[in-house]
Amino acid sequence: MRLQGKVALLTGAGSGIGKTTAELFAKEGATVIVNDIDQSKGKETAKGIQAGGGSALFLHADVTDSDSVQTMVKEAIKAYAKIDILFNNAGISGVGALHEIEPEAWDRVVQVNLRGVFLPSKHVLPHMMERKAGNIINMSSCIAEIGLARRASYSATKGAVLALTKSMQVDYAKYNIRVNAILPGTIMTPFVEQYLKNAYEDPEAAIAAIKTRQLSGELGRPEDVANGVLFLASDESSFMMGSPLYMDGGVVFGKDA
Ligand code: NAD
Repeated sequence: MRLQGKVALLTGAGSGIGKTTAELFAKEGATVIVNDIDQSKGKETAKGIQAGGGSALFLHADVTDSDSVQTMVKEAIKAYAKIDILFNNAGISGVGALHEIEPEAWDRVVQVNLRGVFLPSKHVLPHMMERKAGNIINMSSCIAEIGLARRASYSATKGAVLALTKSMQVDYAKYNIRVNAILPGTIMTPFVEQYLKNAYEDPEAAIAAIKTRQLSGELGRPEDVANGVLFLASDESSFMMGSPLYMDGGVVFGKDA
């Protein structure tokens, strides 16, 4: 029980990595606040956790909307009096080389992936600062470290999240708040299925290409990332501050040829 007694808020926990991490956090004793813009998927995650004997509450919010996030945080504090862990996970994909991207599509990726880290952090931090305790994990991506074809908007946001993580850590260390980032490689989730469909004529060939990019020879599983997030959320990582944690099957640091 590595998170016994902790209250964790996870954004975008109705699907993929967020959902699996919420389930793992609950197994490790945390009370889990499941956020998602998609009510039915978020409720399903919370119900599944409750059915397994865990403690979970679904709170709807759009992470790009300040009022919506503020209301969610107020409700969370009303229910549990504190938030120990914030996992800023909600995100969307963005496909295209820069000249191919419509300004509206660019803005939406920036809104969800970057403003969507800013707003939950902005509204949760005062509560953490007051208690002089907190742990924030921001979802970046290994794309923050490497160039990948036709991912201009997405890579810009994930690089920004990594830079923001370091900056946040400096500002909030004095409040005993840790802020770290997780950088996954390609993980098989609905998100990836969608961008494979959008970006490639032949998604099967794309999966084969991605597998060769990762030294593991396989796509990652949501469980792989959830285990990393659990480590960052637990006291086992207490000396990690403002750091990236790579969970990428060797994409960033390995080259086969
Ligand atoms: P996913 O699509 O399975 O889950 C993302 C969830 O976020 C969805 O349930 C969606 O409804 C929710 N969401 C989207 N916009 C929202 C908003 N405005 N407010 C609240 N919730 C919102 O995706 P995933 O693969 O689990 O990705 C989760 C995070 O991990 C994303 O930030 C993504 O960029 C990042 N990531 C994924 C991979 C990968 O290969 N899957 C790799 C690196 C980073």
